[in-house]
Amino acid sequence: MQLLNGTACSQKIRQEIALEVEAIVAAGKRPPHLAAVLVGDDGASQNYVGMKVRDCEEVGFGSTMVRMKASTTEAELLAKIDELNSNDAIDGFIVQLPLPSQINENNVILAIDPKKDVDGFCPENVGNLSLGLPTFVPATPNGIMELLRRYEIETEGKHCVVLGRSNIVGTPIAVLMSRNTNPGNATVTLAHSRTKNLKALCASADILIVAIGRTEFLTADMVKDGAVVIDVGQTRVPDNTRKSGFRNVGDVDFEQVKDKCSYITFVTGGVGPMTRASLLQNTLKAYQRR
Ligand code: NAP
Repeated sequence: MQLLNGTACSQKIRQEIALEVEAIVAAGKRPPHLAAVLVGDDGASQNYVGMKVRDCEEVGFGSTMVRMKASTTEAELLAKIDELNSNDAIDGFIVQLPLPSQINENNVILAIDPKKDVDGFCPENVGNLSLGLPTFVPATPNGIMELLRRYEIETEGKHCVVLGRSNIVGTPIAVLMSRNTNPGNATVTLAHSRTKNLKALCASADILIVAIGRTEFLTADMVKDGAVVIDVGQTRVPDNTRKSGFRNVGDVDFEQVKDKCSYITFVTGGVGPMTRASLLQNTLKAYQRR
């Protein structure tokens, strides 16, 4: 079994980006700039946005954190998005999800200028992804593809089972894995909560990508010998032994499954850091396109 080290891989990507930024600045140009909008005070969201802003600083990007109160109305948020769309100093921005219940997420996604949509969530970018046209690939699927690419894992002709059909992970990774690219060219099955015979289906997979948010759902009896297992799941469970009071648990029962795999990611240091690095790649891309 080989552990897919997302931390090391993402560090390499950050170094590559930092070098590009150095060259941009040395040429007398301004560096790329990412803005992140955080509405409310959800602990996990604050944490994620804080990390994204720190990542920007580390590679030399400019960054702006836009904090809005939990009672923000949809109209107020849409006005802020308009402002960011027309601000020439900002190359890309994200609106951290989930949003408070008074705001319709779809209206927010529709309001973002596709050229600045570095999360890749708006219809134009999702459409481009499906058509294989230049786009911003959402950060988590992009990070998974990058991990497979950098570890030179063979995907062509393999049976890839994706568990979970969310718009941000499951559906786009299924599209990417089935495309005529490398990595890609896999035969993909997209499974969800209504899928029948899930155990047998998973056990037939050469590559398993699990993104369902159910702790330690994937057990050894669901994994074929030699399979590649990518665990996207990240669920916070209370843990008094940690300073934070919680720990992240993945969708894969790592201890049970690891010895059956050729490659596997762990909940920590796996897909998460690759997701963060992908947002930086998309921001650089947004800058270069302008
Ligand atoms: P989501 O919106 O939470 O949706 C969950 C998906 O899993 C749905 O498609 C659901 O099916 C399916 N599902 C739920 N229970 C199932 C079961 N028992 N069997 C088969 N399918 C089942 O998904 P998400 O936003 O992609 O998040 C999934 C997990 O990934 C979460 O733990 C999240 O925290 C994590 N995540 C991690 C990263 C990272 O960077 N590491 C990034 C994004 C998400 P239905 O559609 O039928 O309801």
